[in-house]
Amino acid sequence: LVNRAFHPDDTIVDVSGVKVGGGHLALIAGPCSVESEEQVIEIAKAVKASGANMLRGGAFKPRTSPYSFQGLGLEGLEILCAAREETGLPIVTELMSPEYLEIFDEKVDLIQIGARNMQNYDLLKQLGQTKRPILLKRGLNATYEEWMMSAEYIMASGNPNVILCERGIRTFETYTRNTLDLQSIPVVRKLSHLPVVVDPSHAGGKWWLVDPMAKASIAAGADGLIIEVHNSPETALCDGAQSLKPEKYDTLLKEITGIAKAV
Ligand code: PEP
Ligand code: MN
Repeated sequence: LVNRAFHPDDTIVDVSGVKVGGGHLALIAGPCSVESEEQVIEIAKAVKASGANMLRGGAFKPRTSPYSFQGLGLEGLEILCAAREETGLPIVTELMSPEYLEIFDEKVDLIQIGARNMQNYDLLKQLGQTKRPILLKRGLNATYEEWMMSAEYIMASGNPNVILCERGIRTFETYTRNTLDLQSIPVVRKLSHLPVVVDPSHAGGKWWLVDPMAKASIAAGADGLIIEVHNSPETALCDGAQSLKPEKYDTLLKEITGIAKAV
């Protein structure tokens, strides 16, 4: 189902009216975590004015330490819904447990499956119970084959609306959080008809790497970008070091338009 050999044309996934793939870019931006209604609405308005077409924000957070901020949970989801109401931007947020699938199906426009859950096959199989599009992140150490097979699980379970997301992989390098695998973009586009977007924020882990890697991703043929933007990165509860300020995101989107036209 995932294989380009049986589906030569690019798949275009419709996220509540926003097309992704086949030349349509997903421009997803927002904070790592939902912290408060004021925070999310302020960022949502700013990124929308810059040209973003979807809002991201984690309500359920997969944190390395159990003592780190775990997200606002369902309260965070309600805040995202309020931001959608205010701005019209479709919302993208991570689902960690099948327990919340029904409520995500009802409220979330694009359901994110995080890198750590890419091989949670029980969760993947459950996703056939919704037709909501799924943003499937590449696992921290997943090969292309493993990543494609995880997409196959979702499609085989009955949900054809899958968008892939390259977010960097674990390598021997420790200077950056992960290593952005730019080659995955042309490889995945060769192997599959599904759209592929890039998350340069989690790849590099440093805000100043986001701009060059976002541009390189678009030049390499990515179908969009998911970028962490925060109005106060210094005080962010999660991933401040890799978050762009709204002004920087604005400049980046202006510069990306020309690159996208040239691809
Ligand atoms: C995120 O997007 O906030 C996130 C946790 O990403 P990943 O699953 O790629 O680490
Ligand atoms: Mn994050």
